[in-house]
Amino acid sequence: MSKVGFFGRWGGAYIPEVLHTTFNELQSAFRAAQADPGFWQEYTALMAGYSGRPTPLSFAENLSRHFAGAQIYIKREDLNHTGAHKANNVLGQGLLVRKMGKKRVIAETGAGQHGVATATMAAKFGFDCTIYMGEVDVQRQRPNVFWMEKMGATVVPVRDGSRTLKDAINEAFRDWVTNVDTTHYVLGTACGPAPFPEMVAWFQSIIGREAREQILASHGRLPAAVYACVGGGSNALGVFQGFLDQPEVQLVGVEAGGMGLDSGRHAARLCGHDASAGVAQGYKTMFLQNDDGQMLETHSVAAGLDYVGVSPILSHLRDEGRVRFAAATDAEVMAALELTMRLEGIIPALESAHAFVQAYKEAPQLAPDQAIIINQSGRGDKDIFTIAHALQDPSWREFIIARGREYAG
Ligand SMILES: *Cc1c(COP(=O)(O)O)cnc(C)c1O
Repeated sequence: MSKVGFFGRWGGAYIPEVLHTTFNELQSAFRAAQADPGFWQEYTALMAGYSGRPTPLSFAENLSRHFAGAQIYIKREDLNHTGAHKANNVLGQGLLVRKMGKKRVIAETGAGQHGVATATMAAKFGFDCTIYMGEVDVQRQRPNVFWMEKMGATVVPVRDGSRTLKDAINEAFRDWVTNVDTTHYVLGTACGPAPFPEMVAWFQSIIGREAREQILASHGRLPAAVYACVGGGSNALGVFQGFLDQPEVQLVGVEAGGMGLDSGRHAARLCGHDASAGVAQGYKTMFLQNDDGQMLETHSVAAGLDYVGVSPILSHLRDEGRVRFAAATDAEVMAALELTMRLEGIIPALESAHAFVQAYKEAPQLAPDQAIIINQSGRGDKDIFTIAHALQDPSWREFIIARGREYAG
């Protein structure tokens, strides 16, 4: 194993022989794109015209007054096409696929958000698209499956194992190995074998580049701290990259604390005590696994944070002490969500609300001439079923029951 694709002791590319050629091809296409200023221009033009970039950095005046500490700014990745930062990665990979001359993309998805983003990109670029999804997730995420199919994707329900995300990952890999000459596997976050972590992080760096310019324009100096939720780590790495070279800016990643770090029902890999180093899914990182290397069940109210691994780049930045990690519980997330909606008229995704929790804990300790940035990775509209249920909204319950009756005829 060469040291290429390692970040400290993390990362690498543990892949079967049959994939070597396609990984080399991907690596070359990525390096060529990085070396070509024209590629980044083409990418930002695509993101401007199709995804509404640059996304704003909103000053949260009411929240800032409420906490009476730092000035709170929110980076609005929720305003991207399809409602989250996922568009940044998926559209970037679409451009690379076109350059490599491939005509088919596949992806796996749990909650369905990455599937929707990939299906959108495939429709725009004219690629064939197959999305693998655990059968249980297909049932739970019908609205997303509906949109993927309407955009022309084939959604394959995976019936192996627990019929969820990890089974869908295995099936997508099987497809890729079989159709490697024609097909690109669109990985959804900064995980997996090299060059995916670095490549996904590179596309997502558009968030941090914009945020840095925007905070300097509106606040006149760099922020004291930047907060982002951490599932696989792509939105966090995206915004952090704007500030990595400035040690005085604190970078804070917030994981899913679920029912609490001692409950066994969470997805805290970098700040809890249940994760350990391992190699799985083609790369080395901190995994939530038992002593035999069996992956543990994870839990979060936010489907996008509910994952056993984490970006090897973040594992490394933790070793270096450059990024600090915290966890937010499901209950804290609901409270932060309610406050944000009420005071700013903004609905963060359940995932993003984790970052808000930690920012709200720290903002009161800072001075009014200091600023913080919260990366709002996505919008909460998709979470209406979960949020309305958690808040035990009585009219929502009636609405769901009435809809059910209507369909039952
Ligand atoms: C998918 C998703 C995440 C988690 O992914 P990262 O790679 O950790 O960014 C976070 N927020 C939203 C809104 C998502 O859809």
